Amino acid sequence: MSETASIVPAGEARRPSISFEFFPPKTAEMEQNLWNVIERLAPLAPDFVSVTYGAGGSTRERTHSTIARILNETSLTPAAHLTCVDAARGDIDEVVDRYHEVGVRHIVALRGDPSGGIGTAYQAHPQGYQNSADLVASIKRRHPDMEVSVSAYPEKHPESASLDADIDVLKAKVDAGATRAITQFFFDNDLYFRYLDRVRAAGIDIPIVPGILPVQNFKLAKNFATRAGATVPDWLAAKFDGLDDDADTRRLVAATVAAGQVQKLSKHGVQHFHFYTMNRADLVFAISHILGIRPNGAQKAA
Ligand code: FAD
Repeated sequence: MSETASIVPAGEARRPSISFEFFPPKTAEMEQNLWNVIERLAPLAPDFVSVTYGAGGSTRERTHSTIARILNETSLTPAAHLTCVDAARGDIDEVVDRYHEVGVRHIVALRGDPSGGIGTAYQAHPQGYQNSADLVASIKRRHPDMEVSVSAYPEKHPESASLDADIDVLKAKVDAGATRAITQFFFDNDLYFRYLDRVRAAGIDIPIVPGILPVQNFKLAKNFATRAGATVPDWLAAKFDGLDDDADTRRLVAATVAAGQVQKLSKHGVQHFHFYTMNRADLVFAISHILGIRPNGAQKAA
């Protein structure tokens, strides 16, 4: 265990802070489902809830309307994801200004995946932002009161030549004004702690919030992990082995695995968790409960 990770004095139990990530719904039915999920999770008082931005801006309007509805109809603080892909600077600035105008004060600023698909070379739009640091700098220049979070990759971004090169990119984003990084999901906590040591050694001191993916569907999670360059340990595959046709047991196993992961992180001083909810509430609610989080701000030592 690294010194940097162990930050809570022994014996002191604090309520961890949590945030939730949703994706914008495509259909009326999916929208209803998302609102049920938000209603279920909102009493857990997350620090913020974020809404993703589809590849190449494909969800631009849906992301915006989901964010606006969260802002107007709940007491939650929304964070809007935004990417540089396939858009001129003026178009992106317009999206940022529109968010600011309606009262959004938090953007998760990303470069985004290449428009030719993962694995193809990234080409910045000729009039666009060249990379995420460029986007962060512009958001902060236009709206200094906008909080900007960025991505971080404990196993390095698949396009990165090395972890050091990836940490240099993170440093550029922090120098441009980012004040929080949210990690790609990982299943092996040691990867996160080793990464944290290297990030701190590089002089980066912003919170590096672990992104937690409760495995609702192992095959899907494995597929995501392959595309995201995240390792799926053999022990995890073994836990889901033989459960393809047994959704109930899969859910119980998933809760046990994710609860174990966050409890270990929490025990070693991690105070913030970002949950990739996949627009589902039950597992995330249960895991938050195990972390000691109770509805409406009540808390219990985990
Ligand atoms: P960055 O961290 O900026 O860069 C990733 C890599 O690109 C670098 O490590 C490096 O290899 C290369 N690179 C970048 N800048 C430079 C440079 N100046 N010089 C040399 N090389 C460079 N995708 C979506 O489409 N929508 C979302 O809503 C979304 N949300 C996400 C949220 C989180 C928390 C995370 C972790 C990822 C998310 N993604 C999302 C995925 C993300 O868009 C992809 O991983 C994308 O390929 C990289 O974007 P980034 O901002 O993470 O890249």
